[in-house]
Amino acid sequence: MSLLRTALEHTKTAVVLGHMNPDGDCVGSCLAVYNYVRDCFPQVEITVCLDRPAEKFSYLNGFDQIRTEVPEGLQADLCICLDSGDRDRLGDFLPLLERAGKSLCVDHHITNTRYGDENVLEPDASSTCEVLWGLMEEEQISKATAECLYTGIVHDTGVFQYSNTSVKTMEIAGKLLGKGIDFSTIIADSFYRKTYVQNQILGRALLESILFCDGQCIFSVLRKKDMDFYGVTNKDMDGIVEQLRSTDGVECAIFLYEKEFQEYKVSLRSKKKVDVSRVAAYFGGGGHVRAAGCTMNGRIHDVVNNLSTQIAKQLEE
Ligand code: AMP
Ligand code: MN
Ligand code: MN
Repeated sequence: MSLLRTALEHTKTAVVLGHMNPDGDCVGSCLAVYNYVRDCFPQVEITVCLDRPAEKFSYLNGFDQIRTEVPEGLQADLCICLDSGDRDRLGDFLPLLERAGKSLCVDHHITNTRYGDENVLEPDASSTCEVLWGLMEEEQISKATAECLYTGIVHDTGVFQYSNTSVKTMEIAGKLLGKGIDFSTIIADSFYRKTYVQNQILGRALLESILFCDGQCIFSVLRKKDMDFYGVTNKDMDGIVEQLRSTDGVECAIFLYEKEFQEYKVSLRSKKKVDVSRVAAYFGGGGHVRAAGCTMNGRIHDVVNNLSTQIAKQLEE
């Protein structure tokens, strides 16, 4: 029996948490567990708590049930933490983990700190949704749960493009198609569709990007004043760093946006050589070998210099 089943068996109340600024794998995995538990353990009262996810994920069943603030007095028997490499990434919802009777952490970040009572960690899995597939009974996965799992896999693999895609990933995706999901619409609407302003800031980030390290690295930044001008937020940044990485000759891409004055969200991506999880971890963040992130403070010039020093070390190795 899987750890998920065992954990749910003697549970009356469960809370599901993911990381701050949730991406497709985070929203997908949280709602996959929500739907699975509703279907298979109807006696369990389950609540999903997340920062407000992007509207493009609103087709997922349970999206409108997501609590975006800590529910008063909620003390769950079981806390399930998904796609979150460390406790701090749970953001405002961390107290719900601390208050819970027991916890289960399911994740695929190589930098995961094993902060759950039980941990199911698969750094080679494409996504947390892929790990979850292994914890669910295939015949008990409904179409609604399949839509969530498929969404997570699609987003973390860049529609089966990134190097984290494996034979197993494709086999699972195939089985999810067998559940009758509208995969074309999921991919088109949640991954490729952009609003007008999202395309505008993508264009702006590309236009202002700078190549360095003999063209092996590329960097771009969006300042707060420009984000305000276009009326965009952190939810509108998906895909920018991947587009930068696709530049011919580039090994490593850095994209920053300003969260607060001189506080930057850093996204790092590489193609074949640089282990960006090491770079991000050095600056207090984490992630995967080819995709990682952190938050850094100071002047842009200094932030980029500090990052490029760490990246250059690896390029010289
Ligand atoms: P992002 O650049 O935000 O898309 O993140 C790339 C990967 O790194 C994702 O798997 C994130 O979960 C992870 N990540 C991003 N920021 C952080 C952080 N501050 N701490 C730990 N992991 C992070
Ligand atoms: Mn994620
Ligand atoms: Mn993930």
